[in-house]
Amino acid sequence: MKIIMLGAPGAGKGTQAKMIADKYNIPHISTGDIFRANIKGGTELGKKAKTYMDQGLLVPDELVVDLVVDRIGQDDAKNGYVLDGFPRTIPQAEALTAALNKIGDKVDFAIDVDVPDSNIIDRMAGRRACVSCGGTYHIKFNPTKVENVCDACGGELILRDDDKPETVQKRLTVYHEQTQPLIDYYTKEQILKSVDGTKDMSEVFQAIVDILGE
Ligand code: ADP
Ligand code: ADP
Ligand code: ZN
Repeated sequence: MKIIMLGAPGAGKGTQAKMIADKYNIPHISTGDIFRANIKGGTELGKKAKTYMDQGLLVPDELVVDLVVDRIGQDDAKNGYVLDGFPRTIPQAEALTAALNKIGDKVDFAIDVDVPDSNIIDRMAGRRACVSCGGTYHIKFNPTKVENVCDACGGELILRDDDKPETVQKRLTVYHEQTQPLIDYYTKEQILKSVDGTKDMSEVFQAIVDILGE
């Protein structure tokens, strides 16, 4: 099963993608996580990506597309994957369609986690991310058992630099301009499914399972 997660920053794509990956035994591929790992590792890609991410801007398409096409070609992705944070622009979506086409393949579902902008600022301000495993929590909606310690791996939790309100506002603008058009794109491809992302995490997940099948 090949799945794309769509939705605004903070809509809950990562949260749901992790649950999907566990249930259906497919890798969770997050381009944001890949960039953050590169930043941490001090790679050239990380250095380039950071200048855009810090400003709430998208990393240029040419730095993203090959990386994802390469990643989904790896062995563990043979039976499917859940893409989180990619594609984020029409050219990225077109590049993905073309790359899959070439091998007679296609995406099965594009799931839009729908959350209005008014909910997003709260979600982002309360989000805490694990520096070790990339897991995300929320101080109010999904707290860890021990404050500032990741339940999954014991790593330290931080407020991401780009989750500060000034940057979130910019990211939302960028989302509406560059990423929201993908909803039309995948509607035309007839694989778009929308879920109400304002519900509890478990309810959102149930709605997704209803779409994907048990
Ligand atoms: P969120 O989960 O809050 O939407 P991500 O972790 O997906 O944030 O992405 C963080 C940042 O990484 C984005 O703001 C953007 O700068 C960059 N990024 C991630 N994926 C892409 C992509 N497919 N294209 C361009 N930039 C990306
Ligand atoms: P995205 O990957 O779309 O940027 P995340 O999955 O990281 O979003 O979620 C953003 C923040 O909102 C996190 O702190 C997460 O714990 C929290 N969150 C996710 N889903 C929900 C939900 N259904 N209700 C309330 N908070 C949520
Ligand atoms: Zn962790």
